[in-house]
Amino acid sequence: MIRSLSINQQAGALECPNCKKTINTLAQQCPFCSTPIDPGAAEENTETLARVSDACIDADQVRQRESEVSNYPGLDFLVVTPMKFLWWVKYGALHTLNPDFVKAENDMVESDSPSLLIVRFVSWCLMVIGLVAFGIWCLLHLPWATA
Ligand SMILES: [Zn+2]
Repeated sequence: MIRSLSINQQAGALECPNCKKTINTLAQQCPFCSTPIDPGAAEENTETLARVSDACIDADQVRQRESEVSNYPGLDFLVVTPMKFLWWVKYGALHTLNPDFVKAENDMVESDSPSLLIVRFVSWCLMVIGLVAFGIWCLLHLPWATA
């Protein structure tokens, strides 16, 4: 009962376009700054807020994985780089001033420009291709393969 109630409350939450405070979708004006709320824009805003919330949850998972492998520099690159790149592909187009999202974006992309992340991901792809090619080469050239 309590759980379903809190989910309903979450689904009905939106960010005031003026003061950025979280308010109820049913409100016709913001209780904090009295800005009138347009129902159409409010619906879009609710969707954005849900995406922002997904983005923060995903970023938390990436950060957790990053802290798990932080003792192994190679593994960090191998595991975390593609996760960050996928995060950016999924949520990079979101534009919001939500502080949790801004922090998540800073942690994932690590700078305002994603070009460094793209370079890292391309080198990640090249490394994986190199490892696979090396594996195939080994299989073909090891003693038991020619015997
Ligand atoms: Zn407001």
